[in-house]
Amino acid sequence: MSEDCIFCQIVDGEIPARTVYEDESVTAFLDANPLSAGHTLVIPRDHHARLADLPADLAADLFGAIHRLGPAIESAVDADAANVGFNDGEAAGQEVPHVHGHIVPRFEGDGGAPIHAVGGDRPDLSDEELDGIAEDVASNLG
Ligand code: 5GP
Ligand code: ZN
Repeated sequence: MSEDCIFCQIVDGEIPARTVYEDESVTAFLDANPLSAGHTLVIPRDHHARLADLPADLAADLFGAIHRLGPAIESAVDADAANVGFNDGEAAGQEVPHVHGHIVPRFEGDGGAPIHAVGGDRPDLSDEELDGIAEDVASNLG
């Protein structure tokens, strides 16, 4: 638990939330300022700031919960689709430094945007640069 973390306080019941799912490692609750009806946050109960900080088993539990919740949420609000994503780090828009996945139900003609809209200016990368990036990623994985 991180003392001044609002999501840790939700896990501990100190701040009320509309909880929709709970197990021993994961909790999910409705976003207080929803982008659409049914907008849900899925979080590990333990405090970790970034996705890469999660132990592998907790990352698997988190995705397992997201996988279960998606259809339940879409059905509850009669959505046509959903965007599922993480703001992973401050530069990516993460405001609460406790890992949380967003499930944002989407509706035909709702005026929203696809996840491609999150990027800034698109880079103009050469084939050589793309090859280099792919090689660096692969070698970082060992
Ligand atoms: P972020 O930008 O960190 O990915 O998103 C944080 C999300 O948490 C926002 O969508 C915001 O509406 C939501 N949020 C912030 N404080 C609270 C709270 O106290 N309760 C709930 N349910 N959601 C919150
Ligand atoms: Zn926390």
